[in-house]
Amino acid sequence: MAGRPLSYLASVPVDRVKNIGPARAKALAGVDIYSVADLLLHVPRRYLDRSQLYELAVVPLGEEVTVAGTVTAVRKRRISRGRTMIDAVIRDGTDSLTAVWFNPYLRIREDTQIILSGKVERFRGRLQMKSPAIDSVDQDSLITGRVVPIHPAIGGFKPDRLREAIANALDRSRPIADTIPEDIIERAGLISRDDAIANIHFPESQQLADMARSRLVFDELFRLQVALARQQHILVNKAIGVAHDGLGSLLPAFLGALPYTLTGAQERVITEICADMKKPHPMHRLLQGEVGSGKTVVAIAAMLTAIQGGYQGAVMAPTEVLAEQHFLSIDFILKIAGLKSATVDLSASDDTKSLFGQASDEVQPQVRLALLTANSAEVNFLPSGTVSRENVLAWIADGTVDLVVGTHTLIQKDLMFYRLGAAVVDEQHRFGVYQRVSLRDKAEGYDPDLLIMTATPIPRTLAMTLYGDLDLSLLDEMPPGRSPVHTSHIVPDKDNLEEVYDFVRRQVAAGRQIFVVCPLVDDSDKLEAVSATAEFNRLKKVFPRLKLGLLHGQMRPSDKEEVMAAFRERRIDLLVSTSVIEVGIDMPNASVMIVEDADRFGLSQLHQLRGRVGRAEHISYCFLVARPSTMEAERRISAMVASNDGFYLAERDLEIRGQGTVFGTQQAGMKDLKLADILRDKELLISARCEAFALIERDPELTAHSDLSEEIRTLLGEDVAWLFVS
Ligand code: ADP
Ligand code: MG
Repeated sequence: MAGRPLSYLASVPVDRVKNIGPARAKALAGVDIYSVADLLLHVPRRYLDRSQLYELAVVPLGEEVTVAGTVTAVRKRRISRGRTMIDAVIRDGTDSLTAVWFNPYLRIREDTQIILSGKVERFRGRLQMKSPAIDSVDQDSLITGRVVPIHPAIGGFKPDRLREAIANALDRSRPIADTIPEDIIERAGLISRDDAIANIHFPESQQLADMARSRLVFDELFRLQVALARQQHILVNKAIGVAHDGLGSLLPAFLGALPYTLTGAQERVITEICADMKKPHPMHRLLQGEVGSGKTVVAIAAMLTAIQGGYQGAVMAPTEVLAEQHFLSIDFILKIAGLKSATVDLSASDDTKSLFGQASDEVQPQVRLALLTANSAEVNFLPSGTVSRENVLAWIADGTVDLVVGTHTLIQKDLMFYRLGAAVVDEQHRFGVYQRVSLRDKAEGYDPDLLIMTATPIPRTLAMTLYGDLDLSLLDEMPPGRSPVHTSHIVPDKDNLEEVYDFVRRQVAAGRQIFVVCPLVDDSDKLEAVSATAEFNRLKKVFPRLKLGLLHGQMRPSDKEEVMAAFRERRIDLLVSTSVIEVGIDMPNASVMIVEDADRFGLSQLHQLRGRVGRAEHISYCFLVARPSTMEAERRISAMVASNDGFYLAERDLEIRGQGTVFGTQQAGMKDLKLADILRDKELLISARCEAFALIERDPELTAHSDLSEEIRTLLGEDVAWLFVS
C-alpha cells in the first residue's frame, strides 16, 4: 500500500499539526517529541473500558477495579512525621467512596469527574481506596466508543487536548506506508501499520488495541533485529580477522596441567571457540554460564590460542575491582597449570633480555600477564609495586606482555597493542551494544576475535536483544559435586543472630571457612573499606577464638593477594570483606556466606556472592541478613531464598526492575524499545528475529527494501547508521 513512510513523518516538525503552536510544541519537545512520527508513537499506556466500570454499590472488594464518579469533597491534612494526607469523597449515584493519597502534590478538585483504579476495601463500614491511580475524563467528543485511551500525560496538555492533537496528526499522516514486506506481516499474523497506528490511539475495542500493539511491538523488535543481522553479516562477510592456526604447546600444556577434568560443556565450548578462532573472519561470540560453571578456564583457553600463535590477548572488565580480581585469579590459575614455573627462552630477543636482565636467574612465566587500570599497573614477571603505568604501556606496545587485564583503559587512545589477537569483554551488561566493538579498533588492518562473557546468566530473550548479533556458547553443566546452597533470610531483630554465629562456630570446628560480606556504601570504595574495618573489629569480639581476615578494595593488590593466600591455606577461618569478592574468588573449602544488609545489593550481585560458596562437596549455606524496607528488596530476597537457578533469577530481576532500569535507558538497543517488553513479548521477539535474519540472508544490502533501510536508519539513529551505508 502506498502512503507516507514513518521516515518521512519523522522529518515533519510537530508544529505543522493543526492546533499545535509554539507553546505546545515546546511542551512536546520537553518529552522528546519533535516530529509527527514521534507524536504518533506516543501511545496510550492503557485503556479504560467503560463497560468494565463498576458501580460502587456492587464493586467487588480486594480486586483491581476501575470506578468513576464525581468528586464531592477534598481534604488535605498533615499527619505524623510531616507527611501529608489527601482524602476525597467520590459519588456515582449508587454509593460513595473515600480515596486516600499520601502525595502532597496531588491536585484534585471538587465537582470534577474522575476515574480511579486500584483495590476497594471496606474500612469502618465505608468503601475506601488507598492511593488509587487517577485519570480525569472531561467531556471529549473524540471518545465515542466505550474504550478510552489514557495517554502518558504531557505537561501543558489536558488529556482531551492531547487526544485531539494526536487525532489531527493522524489525519495529516494517513495512510501510513508499510515498510515491512507483506509476506512477513502475513506470516506473523499482524495487521497493517496504518491500521495499527490508528487503532493504538482510538480503538473500538480492547481487542483491536491489543492487535495494534502487537504490530507496533513487532516493528520495534524487527528494526532492531535487522540492525543486528546486518552487523553480523558485515562481520562475517566483510571484516578481516585473524585465522589463528591453533598450533602450539601452550594450550595443551595448560589444559593438561589443570587439577581437574573439564566438564563436557567446557570441552564443547572450548572446541567451538577454537574452531571459530581458526576462521578468517573475526569471532563475535557470547559465553554464558551459571556462576561457578567454569567460564574462566574457557576464557583463558581462548587467550592462549591467540598467544601461542604470537598474538596478544586482552581482558576488559567493567570495574577496577573486577579487573584486579581477574588479574589475581588468572595469575593463580596459570600458576596452578604450571605455566609460571616453566622457563622462557630469554635469548630470543635482545630487548627481552635486557628487560629481564637483573632477574635472569629467576624462573620466568611463560605467559606474561599485566594489569592496567586507572590506578594500578602490575605484571606477573616483576615484583608487585615495581612497575609504572608507562612501563606496562610500553610492554603492551612492544609485545613483551602477552595478556593484559584492564578496564576501559584498554580502549583509550594512548594504549597500543603490538598484535592483539583476541579480546574477552567481561560485560556485566555494562557496555553498550555498539560500544563493545570498539576494542576491535585496537588492532590495525584487521579485527581481533571477540568473546563477550556475562558474569551471571541472562534471560534468553535478552540475549537475543542485547547480544543478538553474537554467536552463543552456553556452559550448561556444572563441575561435579556441586549442590544448591541452602539460603535463608535473617531479620536481625526478629531472628537471633547469635544462632547464626553458633552455626558459624560449628562449621569452623568442622574444618570449613566463612565469608562475611559488608554492605555497599554509596558506591564509595573508601567508605566501604571503613565500614568493613569496623565490622571486622566487632566480629573479632564476637569470635575471640577464630582467626579473622579483612579484605577491601582500598588495599594494595599484593596485600589482597596475601589475604587470599592466607584464606586459601586456612590461616584465616572467617574473612570479612566488601563486595570485592563478588566475582572470581574461588575458595572451595568455604561453606558459609553471610551477606549483611543484603537488601542493599542487586539480585545478580547476591547471586554472584552466593556463588562464592558451594564450590566443592561441602554442603553450603547462605544467610541474607536484612530488614528490607522496600517491596523490591523484599522480592529480591525471596527470589534468592526460592531458587539457586541463575536463569530463573535473571528473569525475576528483569521483572522486578523492568528492562529500562536493568540496562539504563541510554543503552543502545534497549532505548529503542519503547513498547516492547522483552519478557512479555517473547513470541513476537522470536518471530521478528527469525524474519529479520532471513531477510538479511535474502537481501543483505536491503537493496530491494530501501524504505525499510531508510526507516531503520532514521529511527535507530547514529548508532546503527553505519550499518546501512552502501
Ligand atoms: P565462573 O567464572 O563461571 O563463575 P569459575 O571459572 O570461577 O566459574 O570456576 C568456578 C570453580 O570451578 C573454580 O574453582 C574452578 O577452579 C572450578 N572448576 C572449573 N572447571 C572445573 C571442572 N571441570 N572440574 C572441577 N572444578 C572446576
Ligand atoms: Mg568468573
